[in-house]
Amino acid sequence: MTDSTLWHVVLPTPLRKPFLYRMPTSLGAPEIGMRVRVPFGRRQVTGYLLAPCPTPPQASFEIKDILELLDDVVPLPEELIRFLKEAASYYMHGLGEVFKTALPPGLDRAVNGTLSTPSPTTQDFLGSPVATVTPPVLNAEQTAAVEAITSQLHNGGYRGFLLHGVTGSGKTEVYFNAIDTARSLGKGALVLVPEISLTPQLIQRYRARFGDGIAVLHSGLSVRNRRTQWQLLRTGQVRVAIGVRSAIFAPVDRLGIIIVDEEHDASFKQESRFTYNARDLTLLRAARAGAVAVLGSATPSLETYYNAEIGKLEKLRLTKRATSQALPEVTAIDLTKHHSGPGGQTLITQPLYTAICETLEREEQAILFLNRRGFAPSILCGGCGEVIRCRSCSVSLTLHRHPPGLICHYCGSRWQVPSKCPACGATDLCPIGTGTQRAETILSDLFSSARIARMDRDSAAGKKGEAILDKLRQREIDILVGTQMVTKGHDFPYVTLVGVLNADVGLHMPDFRASERTFQLLMQVTGRAGRDQRGGRAFIQTYSTPHPAIDLARFHDYQTFVKMELETRRELGYPPFGRLAALRISSKSPEKVQIASQRLAAELREIHRQQSNPGVTILGPAAAPLEKVQNRYRWRIHLRSHRYDLIRRLIEPVLQTIENPPAGVRIRIDIDPQSML
Ligand code: ADP
Ligand code: ZN
Repeated sequence: MTDSTLWHVVLPTPLRKPFLYRMPTSLGAPEIGMRVRVPFGRRQVTGYLLAPCPTPPQASFEIKDILELLDDVVPLPEELIRFLKEAASYYMHGLGEVFKTALPPGLDRAVNGTLSTPSPTTQDFLGSPVATVTPPVLNAEQTAAVEAITSQLHNGGYRGFLLHGVTGSGKTEVYFNAIDTARSLGKGALVLVPEISLTPQLIQRYRARFGDGIAVLHSGLSVRNRRTQWQLLRTGQVRVAIGVRSAIFAPVDRLGIIIVDEEHDASFKQESRFTYNARDLTLLRAARAGAVAVLGSATPSLETYYNAEIGKLEKLRLTKRATSQALPEVTAIDLTKHHSGPGGQTLITQPLYTAICETLEREEQAILFLNRRGFAPSILCGGCGEVIRCRSCSVSLTLHRHPPGLICHYCGSRWQVPSKCPACGATDLCPIGTGTQRAETILSDLFSSARIARMDRDSAAGKKGEAILDKLRQREIDILVGTQMVTKGHDFPYVTLVGVLNADVGLHMPDFRASERTFQLLMQVTGRAGRDQRGGRAFIQTYSTPHPAIDLARFHDYQTFVKMELETRRELGYPPFGRLAALRISSKSPEKVQIASQRLAAELREIHRQQSNPGVTILGPAAAPLEKVQNRYRWRIHLRSHRYDLIRRLIEPVLQTIENPPAGVRIRIDIDPQSML
């Protein structure tokens, strides 16, 4: 038996070490990227051939035989395999876990049939074909942006762009033109959009432009559809893919361009298992594939903005709305001065109330934004002053009325609304604060003749959200109140008023990005108003005035905000000036998690001392601000440095500990963490 019959195989496990198997020659001609069935413990699993192993190790273990070669066409192109390897290495995760995240579920299971089976070309699940539209004539700024991108496409090779364009400035038209050029050059295109934006409307907009030549990738599709989309791309039958973050791993053939729309959006970061950031990986994949990367936003993340400042990305600007409409006039309402509004309620102040009345009189529409779902964020006992908390998480339970119950927004557990306090038995339980359900009730009382609808995760699950937006478009809704869901989406010409009911939700979170996120959200939501010649205005109700995130959002002044915020980050050594990694330790036992965290931190400090590595600061261990979620206690160690490689050098020696934590403890590595909770 020759040496070349040994293969490194990627298996769906979090372990970092490669697995070695023998390939019997009778199975056919193996190639890198093919799927194989192998024995693993007492089970059989599907793995991927990673690389032949020319020099067999002095194996102290028995090397088992591969049982079956599952494909006769390689499912993973080499470019993708190299990319997955680099991604795994950068994020310090096992390749098995990365493959599991990256590839559609149908691929990593032992499925019958091979990928070479002719795939259906119909995109039935996308709905009936849509009529094509004539593209608008681009304005000067759009033309300049398109020219910069397309000339790079013609020249070939990597280049990254930041397309910084205000809301409604026609960024999508720029993407369309770039994709057109890529296609005419025989190259593929990949478009990543936030989870919340991948609506049938957006897909229709792309289909109206590109017909059936697009694949759609998101987790809501059936396993079969996801596999079909994958195959269409892999075989080059379809060259344009649009999807959410995991689409960064799509096997687009001859990749020419990757576009990330709303690149600042938090949903590009995966927060569980393989914690990657699709926006960051976009630059890596494009660079390796010699493709163009375009990161688009009205409010670029500080990381991206900084990359453009230091010349890593080329900046393209769209400073005006495409339809030449002015951005809305925004007024801040100081809630410390307006304690209550009409009818004594505390949700809608008098100025906002008046504006809503005027809007209704003109038969126009209003969007009201409140970033809290449910009826009331907590229930307080008037007897003992206790707030009712989730038994599994360290958060209060949210009172819901439709349908009634107490729900934990972290673990999803649901209880009946108690008639008395579980702690002291008192019966005066008082709902505290206002969520969207309560807001809807208050609005119905205030504006009894208006047609009011609510849009949040409870009311707009699945297709229901579409129905709500359709009604808004058809002007069957006068006032729409909702969570972040109302801040995105397409233009509604009759929406001339936007109200932010409480801008402070989120602003005071223990997270250095709280201010940036609030600013982005306010810019986004106020940008919904006045997309048409009717013009628009927006009101922001807040307790935090003056506050730069709010005051600068009022004037749509991204530049000043970003300059101030960058200054703060520079002083603190936070991203984009410093790099961060989080080691997240969790356990069902509060003692175990604490001991494991302290040991890990001690180990890190010892290595730090030995390496005489002054470039890294070790912060913690400390309990996470949200200490308990789903019955697991969570601790953190943060590593901060001006250089990624220094952080890496410190983590590498503890990988053993991380992979083999004490019993009952889990340790995860999060490079470039987004969530500080
Ligand atoms: P963005 O993605 O920057 O928020 P969109 O691409 O959605 O903006 O464009 C906003 C609106 O302006 C859309 O209705 C679009 O069709 C329209 N639009 C874009 N470019 C032009 C143009 N050059 N002339 C006229 N209308 C345009
Ligand atoms: Zn919970």
